Amino acid sequence: MQQIDHWIGGRVVAGALGRTAPVHDPARGIVAAEVALASADEVADAVAAATAALPEWRATGLSRRAEVMFRLRDLIDANRKELAALVTAEHGKVLSDALGEVARGLENVEYACGIPALLKGGYSEQAATGVDVYQLRQPLGVVAGITPFNFPAMVPMWMFANALACGNTFVLKPSEKDPSASMFIAELLAQAGLPAGCFNVVNGDKEAVDALLTHPDVAAVSFVGSTPIARHIYETGTANGKRVQALGGAKNHMLVLPDADLDMAADAAVSAGFGSAGERCMAISVVLAVELVADALVEAIRTRIADIRVGPGDEPGNEMGPLITAEARDRVAGYVTGAAAEGATVVVDGTVDPPAGGFFLGPSLLDDVRPGMRAYDDEIFGPVLGVTRVASFEEGLALINANPYGNGTAIFTRDGGAARRFQTEVEVGMVGINVPIPVPVAYYSFGGWKASLFGDTHMYGPEGISFYTRSKVVTSRWPDPATSGVDLGFPENR
Ligand code: NAD
Repeated sequence: MQQIDHWIGGRVVAGALGRTAPVHDPARGIVAAEVALASADEVADAVAAATAALPEWRATGLSRRAEVMFRLRDLIDANRKELAALVTAEHGKVLSDALGEVARGLENVEYACGIPALLKGGYSEQAATGVDVYQLRQPLGVVAGITPFNFPAMVPMWMFANALACGNTFVLKPSEKDPSASMFIAELLAQAGLPAGCFNVVNGDKEAVDALLTHPDVAAVSFVGSTPIARHIYETGTANGKRVQALGGAKNHMLVLPDADLDMAADAAVSAGFGSAGERCMAISVVLAVELVADALVEAIRTRIADIRVGPGDEPGNEMGPLITAEARDRVAGYVTGAAAEGATVVVDGTVDPPAGGFFLGPSLLDDVRPGMRAYDDEIFGPVLGVTRVASFEEGLALINANPYGNGTAIFTRDGGAARRFQTEVEVGMVGINVPIPVPVAYYSFGGWKASLFGDTHMYGPEGISFYTRSKVVTSRWPDPATSGVDLGFPENR
């Protein structure tokens, strides 16, 4: 059985205790590898390696740090297929989708290549006579990243690219369900010339996470995962004096107005609802269909679902792979089998005859879903699309704003005024206008509102640079006999 260990101090380090978790091939329903689960002592070893590497790395010139990022960019580009294949093997998403994940992650490495310009501060000459004032942005120190199973390559890149480029050293705790992408990226970073100890991977579960959250030498934590764990990370991390950004779960609504291009809206709902088997935090989970077009829209979605090819992600032609575990498949299937009893209409039942062998479920479409039903209230995180019929734009907007989550949303319309009102009034962090999965490009920042984000800064882009640095303002005067003298008054700018 393949063993997946840790990456500490620039090399693979075997798990010390023999505590492991299974890593599945979800398309075949088998255990493909065992991943080591780190103890608090092993986490401390990784933090110690990052602490030891910090002084040299933070003193490394910006152009040299940028050079490492440029090399990493080229290495990931050259190894796209290998990285995507690792994602498909352990996560299950189809290869084309995994390649898309790598491409969107790579954007963040490309952004970090611009670090010399991104860290430019401001300078005020002659703020007072003979006095200049300027701002520095300095790294925080050792920072940790804790990532979810659903984007094992992209989400780590959201974090470590900017963190390292800013001069921090990094300890990554990837999901124990698909750890191999992180280990591969660690090797690529070493090949790119990153000094040993600057980037470490500890595999593990709650024990490793809690050890990072309480370690006195960890200055900051970036987290992406489900809302209950995000809340735990934020509360524990901040109680231990750390800077924390913790991105949580989602329930993304797509509002379709009567004037929308219905074919475009149906294509978008199907792509965003069932891509990656619905295991995306930006997946569309609820289509809010304004009554006038609801029947036509449900029918357009139903016919498209019939064409979705479900099967192993490494077999060409398949569009939707399995779920991550048997447990996840059974939990998601429960929303479909329980929907009718709650008053929803099961239009397409994906629990019937899914492909054999792996943790498969077909796409499901539920109509007449209402708040109060489990299928509406919960983040399902699987290939189940609900349709909620609304009378008007106002009713749809009110439902979105009443939802506890606020990650992504979309409106489909040809009416610029309605779209503009939507973008102004909707209480969600990422908004699409005729775009179903509005994941911001790397030079903006990613983050939801309400229960989808704990903390103040969004992830990657300009807010990522802010998160991974702290500012210092210097007020300086050089000896000049003409302006020197004792003055006990509070300094005024004269
Ligand atoms: P998860 O919360 O179960 O796990 C995320 C990470 O936390 C993993 O590394 C895991 O090992 C660790 N963890 C799990 N339980 C823990 C505990 N009790 N204490 C400490 N650490 C713990 O999430 P997941 O199932 O891997 O990923 C799916 C979830 O992530 C969904 O809710 C999805 O919406 C969310 N997600 C959000 C975003 C976003 O940007 N907002 C992006 C991707 C995924």
